Amino acid sequence: LRREDPRFPGRRKGPLAENAGVRLLVVMNPSSHDFEARRRWPRLEPRLARAASVTLLETEPDDARTIARVREELTRGHDRVLAIGGDGTLHLVVNAIFGAGLATLPEFAVIPFGTANNVAKSLGLPPRDLRKLTAVAVGSRLGRLDVARIKAVIDGKPEERVWVNCVGLGMDADVLVTRGNYRDLGGYLGYAAALAERSMIQRSMDLELSVDGKTFATRVYNLIVNNVPIYVGAMQMPGSHRDDGLLDVYLFDRLEYGSKVLSFAIKHADILKLGVSEALDQITENQRTFQGKVVRVRLAEPRRLQVDGEALGETSEILCDMAGHLRVTVP
Ligand SMILES: [Mg+2]
Repeated sequence: LRREDPRFPGRRKGPLAENAGVRLLVVMNPSSHDFEARRRWPRLEPRLARAASVTLLETEPDDARTIARVREELTRGHDRVLAIGGDGTLHLVVNAIFGAGLATLPEFAVIPFGTANNVAKSLGLPPRDLRKLTAVAVGSRLGRLDVARIKAVIDGKPEERVWVNCVGLGMDADVLVTRGNYRDLGGYLGYAAALAERSMIQRSMDLELSVDGKTFATRVYNLIVNNVPIYVGAMQMPGSHRDDGLLDVYLFDRLEYGSKVLSFAIKHADILKLGVSEALDQITENQRTFQGKVVRVRLAEPRRLQVDGEALGETSEILCDMAGHLRVTVP
């Protein structure tokens, strides 16, 4: 039950407001959305500080160093961790939480400041309303966010990490790398340009897919393993849930995939007024979908791997399963 806050007549008091002893660790990517996160911080901090005692850590360009610093801070004891940034920031924070060796995992909260914000959208967070987002971040309504794990040999080196958003092999991972060449275009426009380039040269992959022990060989153009239902910032993947303990595997085998996602991305750049829902329906029609707890992919030839939107290098085999889950604040 929420009480009326006497300081703000008509406004409801947030549940954490009665408990200033709550320790909140904020991990912020200051550069997200062109340093908008850092500019907004002076207005954001007092609202958080009313509800909890706040420790702020800013991410650094060196991911490994960021994870190590967050991990160390977590061992000092925090009730809740708030990640402010895009899906990449969430990836770092979740890896720190799962790598800190804690007996009890802290609660998790998100204020999105990225481009796609797949995880935030999958949590149903209100877009672009900082006041509402802050209220959710210090609120008491909790949902569940599954956390997946991946093991792979990448560029000859064994890697293991946790992830919350998506893992991709093929087209989308290659687009991610190519997008680096179009940084100046920014956001979805850079994505569209990269898609256009890759669409012309992309080739399919021969692979063996195992989902919970059921194995078959196939040829695909693009493979995605999803943990949350929202993909590339707006595509709602059918049958996917953030809290069912299952991974979703999508195989795309048509060459037209690229051109359809391209029209979708261009619409997002607001250049052309194309029928988005129509494009989305066509994309999701041309796919095969599987769900399971353990997903193994063996490739005939090494291909680029993306994990939570970051290109990691080449691999010939990945193993994904569930690492656990986080209790996350939801509206
Ligand atoms: Mg799921």
